[in-house]
This record gives sequence, structure tokens and C-alpha cells, in this order.
Amino acid sequence: MNIVVQKYGGTSVGDIKKIKNVADRILKTKATGAHLVVVVSAMGHTTDRLVSLAKAITRRPSRREMDMLLSTGEQISIALLSMALQERGAKAISLTGMQSGIITDGNHSMAKIKQINAASLISRLQEGTVLIVAGFQGVSHGYEITTLGRGGSDTTASALAVALKAKRCEIYTDVDGVYTADPNVVPEARRLDYISYEEMVELAGAGAQVLHPRSVEIAMKYRVPIQVRPSYSDAPGTIVMEGRKLENVVITGITGNKNIAKVAIRGIPDRPGVAAQIFSALAGQGINVRLIIQSIAENGLNDISLVVSREFIKSAIEVLEKQKASLKARNIVYHDKLAEVSIVGSGIASTPGVAARMFRTLAKKNINIDLISSSEVRITCVIDERKTVDAIPALHEEFKLERLERGLAKATRSSKAIG
Ligand code: ADP
Ligand code: ASP
Ligand code: MG
Repeated sequence: MNIVVQKYGGTSVGDIKKIKNVADRILKTKATGAHLVVVVSAMGHTTDRLVSLAKAITRRPSRREMDMLLSTGEQISIALLSMALQERGAKAISLTGMQSGIITDGNHSMAKIKQINAASLISRLQEGTVLIVAGFQGVSHGYEITTLGRGGSDTTASALAVALKAKRCEIYTDVDGVYTADPNVVPEARRLDYISYEEMVELAGAGAQVLHPRSVEIAMKYRVPIQVRPSYSDAPGTIVMEGRKLENVVITGITGNKNIAKVAIRGIPDRPGVAAQIFSALAGQGINVRLIIQSIAENGLNDISLVVSREFIKSAIEVLEKQKASLKARNIVYHDKLAEVSIVGSGIASTPGVAARMFRTLAKKNINIDLISSSEVRITCVIDERKTVDAIPALHEEFKLERLERGLAKATRSSKAIG
């Protein structure tokens, strides 16, 4: 069966006119003979507004009730889009995460998809019905509604594409592809015709909002290409797919993440089991740690710093305060006005001097580096949040990304291209 999964983000279904446009687009694809599964996000800023409603009631809403609340946003848009298709004479049905058989773990607000029961979706597709699926949500084995983390509709789409063995997974959004940096921050940024899974995983994980990190991890694991396209034109966008190292391309993209905080436990007696105790306690509260730095012990005492997303900082401090006495730590300090800036590229590991160029560029802008981490295809510096506006364009210029040439034609020879 020729199954195509499409996902439309919040801005693309931001008002009734846009929803009608999306319905017209869907019908155009359907006319080519494709069986369509369409994932949609909540309209415009609906999810943010729902978050504000909860915050007006309590500073610490329970994660279960947040999922109950936030999942309603997507239900509005699926119903409206399905009506728009029915109005145009098409067979369409809206389905929640639960009705789509999207089974997750029970980790509210950042659940992971465990399984998709695709059989009933496939039989509906065989009847020629367009399936309109609520993004970002699923159901746990205990029949609890869960959500996949902000931006998680992309993940619903790539997971459905895998489960349904779709021919294509198209992510429609408000930019015309993946750029060398956020085009709304760096006007000189260039659109990439293609990007490898590995680079996109790092770029998304380091804060490039255009794709939810988990959506790329799933696509990479099952080798399903993702096409990121504008919802306002027929431009081909960017294909995320199997990569091949290209000569002369060291850095592919630069990204920032302002949603960062650091907490340090200072003066801990240096003995085996300390790190295990700290990180088990954090994991027990579902706190994801982005970066850990342990310095060299002095006078038998050590400091451990960790970087978390800002949403976790309060609970991380609470957890560490509870551990402080048994760890015999001196004190706990935190800083929540930090940001990460990252350079990503498959040439980093094989090109000497890239890190030095990054650090020199930040130094020239008088930007102090708080923490550094790296992988084979990424270098990340934690800096003062206010400095990201200087850091990202400066790094973009240093690595000459406005001139990056990277054509799809070169890449497809060794890859399964889609579409
Ligand atoms: P949607 O609502 O369609 O899911 P998002 O707002 O989540 O859209 O993602 C699209 C946004 O991602 C763009 O408007 C852009 O500002 C941002 N973005 C960040 N980094 C990049 C990048 N490297 N390339 C393209 N867009 C990016
Ligand atoms: N509506 C959710 C959010 O705003 C999910 C998504 O848009 O992907 O985060
Ligand atoms: Mg998004």
C-alpha cells in the first residue's frame, strides 16, 4: 500500500483558513493514489495558552493533569481538519492517540512510544479513509493519556511512518526546510537540500526546534527518510536521510538552546558511589541530565556540576537538597540564565582545530564559556543566555555557513531518497 504520513505543525493549522488550505493539500496528495495518515499539532499557540491556564492555578501542576489538559489542543485541530475534508466530499476520520493505538510508557509529559497497533489504522486506510491523528499524545498501558514532550507531534509522525511502513514522512512547517541556523535568528542562514540523520539528531537535540529530537532518532533507527517542507508552498524542503561524508563540509549547522540551567553540588567527599547516588536520585524523579562535569578532587573534596533543561531545575535542586546531608556535601548552587550554543557537523572529529576556532570566536566576542561538551559530530558550549544573540551569528560567519554548498544530487547516489 502506498502510505504517506504528513504532519502539519501549529502555525500551519493556526486558523480556519489555514486548516482549509491543509485540507486542499491533503486532497492533492490523495489524488495521486496515496493512502494518507495526517498528524496535526494544536492550533497556533494553543498549547502555550493551556500551560498558562494551569500555571494560573498552581505553580506545580501534576504531570498527569498537565497531559490531560495539553492533549486537548490537538483534539480541536484533528476534529476541524477532518470536518474540512468531509466538507470537501472526502472520507476522513479524526483519531486521538489512544484511538490510533499509540501505546507509550507512563512517563507523563515526556512519554516514549513503545508500540503502535497499526492493524485498525491499516484497515481504515484500505477503505480509502484519510486518517487525521492527534500528534504529541498516546496512552499508557494503564489507560492514562500521556504526551511526548513539547514539539512531540513530529515524533508521532515518524513513529507512524515506521509502524505503517509508509513510503514517505513529510513534516510541514513554517520554514522551507532545515537551515544552517534558525533562519529567524540568522538571516544569512542557508537551507540544506539534505542532512544526515546523525547530524540532524545532534542539531535537534541541541535545540534546533524544527524537528523533535526523538522523531529523528526513530527515523534514523528504522532508516525512514523525513522530508521537512513548508506548508505554504510546493518547495521540496530538506531531506533528512542516510548520510555520506562530503569533502570540505566540516560544520553543517549551528544552534542555540536557551532553555538551560546548571546546578552544582560542591565540596563532596571524593569516594566511590557518590555519582551513583546523585544520578539515581535524579533519575528516580524523571529528571534528564544533559551534561555532567566532575572536576579533579582537591583535599579529598569534589564538585559535580550538571546541566538540565530549565523545567527540571526546581525538582533537581529539591532532589539534591535531600541528598546533601547523606553525601556530606558543602552546598548546592545553581544558575538558571544559561544557554547552550552548539556547532554540528560530520567533519568535526576528523578536522583538527575546529574546537579552537569555536572557542576563539566566542573569546573575540568577549563571551565566557562556562562548560564544554562534545561528541563526534557536535561541540557545545554553555554560556550566558544573553550572549547567544552574538554567539550564533559569529559562529555562522566563522565557519562560512552562508556559503555552504551541499547538494541533494551528490548525496542520493549512496542513499535511499524519498519522493
Ligand atoms: P511547527 O509548529 O511546524 O512544529 P516549530 O516552531 O516547532 O514548527 O519549528 C519550526 C521553527 O524552527 C522555525 O520557525 C524556526 O524558527 C525554528 N528553527 C530552529 N532552528 C532551525 C533550523 N536549523 N532550520 C529551520 N528552522 C529552525
Ligand atoms: N502542541 C504541542 C506543542 O506545542 C506538540 C507539537 O506542536 O508538536 O508542543
Ligand atoms: Mg514543532
